[in-house]
Amino acid sequence: MNIYDSNLIASLIEKDGNIKAETIENADIIIVNTCAVREHAVNRVLSRIDSLKVLKKRKPYIRIGVTGCVPQQLKEKLLEEKPFIDFVLGPDNLRKITSCIKDKNGTFVKLFDTSLYSDLSPARGELPETFVSAMRGCNNFCSYCIVPYVRGKERSRHIEDILNEVGKLGKLGYKRVTFLGQNINNYKDRGKGLPYLLSEAAKVEGIERISFLTSHPAYFPLKVINVMKDEPKIEKFLHLPLQSGSSRILKAMNRGYTQEKYKGIIDKIRTKIEDIALSTDIIVGFPYETEKDFMETLNLVKMIDFDFAYMFKYSPRKYSLANNFIDTVNEETKRDRLNELIRVQSEVIKKKSEANKGKIFDVLITGENEKNYLASNGITLYNKRVIVKERICTGEIVKVRIEEVKGWTPIGTPVKEPGKNVALGLVPNRQKRRM
Ligand code: SF4
Repeated sequence: MNIYDSNLIASLIEKDGNIKAETIENADIIIVNTCAVREHAVNRVLSRIDSLKVLKKRKPYIRIGVTGCVPQQLKEKLLEEKPFIDFVLGPDNLRKITSCIKDKNGTFVKLFDTSLYSDLSPARGELPETFVSAMRGCNNFCSYCIVPYVRGKERSRHIEDILNEVGKLGKLGYKRVTFLGQNINNYKDRGKGLPYLLSEAAKVEGIERISFLTSHPAYFPLKVINVMKDEPKIEKFLHLPLQSGSSRILKAMNRGYTQEKYKGIIDKIRTKIEDIALSTDIIVGFPYETEKDFMETLNLVKMIDFDFAYMFKYSPRKYSLANNFIDTVNEETKRDRLNELIRVQSEVIKKKSEANKGKIFDVLITGENEKNYLASNGITLYNKRVIVKERICTGEIVKVRIEEVKGWTPIGTPVKEPGKNVALGLVPNRQKRRM
């Protein structure tokens, strides 16, 4: 979502006659778009902002703005402690960026329930894949999470606006879109939900792959799985954050499901799409998490066999309910639990990657490989990034047999398909596409 918002900001600034600076030292306007989801992210942002102080001292005319969730959370701290910042804008106030740049100071951090930026055309990254925002905000209030406080209430874009955007992307040569929403299951526009959006997007000419993030286990509509199964363009991949394998901790997290319910959803999904790829998020060391709770998480991770997991140590976030809980798990225990979880999950990934050797996948070529100009990068229908040992045009879809696995990355060679010519070489994909 932050990448998408950064692109929105870029398009607003470019529309106003500015061009992208090649280096930060050459820039007259510097915008730091921020994430506040974890303490670590905020600390990194604060030190990044501090590193700009010297530039401002050398060139007092440059404009420095901080946008996104950190100013929404910490506007006073930023403005008081870092006077070299010219303006701050919350995620719902990005439209004000050009006036802030021109008018000197500005502080806009109010959350508007209606901000969707549907009429704006964000700058786009390299072909062939991009994000499309389907909704913003979240109403869930998981007890550890700051998002509802900094990104506001859940609201969905009109379906025709989204499909219009996808149609334009298809014409520009984009092949893969990922729909974004903090809680994408709840996408709703005048009675039409996520399954409808996905099946309509699959009809868009030029678009070959469709993915969506992030789903919530408490509200996951199983109808979506039917659409995923029936529609070949929709990736057989689901990101379903577990957060904890202990029902007791899930309750304290206010997640709205139990360990049993989560397992039940996975079973139902795998009954429909046996080989679906699953990824998840897990927090260890949440307040009151005992060794027994942690073991339940570990056991569930082993049982489910996630294809990937984003794993974190718990850190308290201002405003969130859990900020008032006693942080009962000490840092050392959090670190040990995280290391153990990473070890177990790495074994699962290694086992699953090895099992793919010899298998053939349809791979969308996403660009040249940075280390080997005779190879290409690609992504499977199961959301797995692979290296293809041939130089193939970006945007082509080729069958690839996986021969080896390096680290966690599968490497393979294209399988010649009778009657199909694959475009070799690379199309230029380095310029930003505008709609
Ligand atoms: S669903 Fe929970 S974790 Fe996800 S953004 Fe909303 S409050 Fe945060």
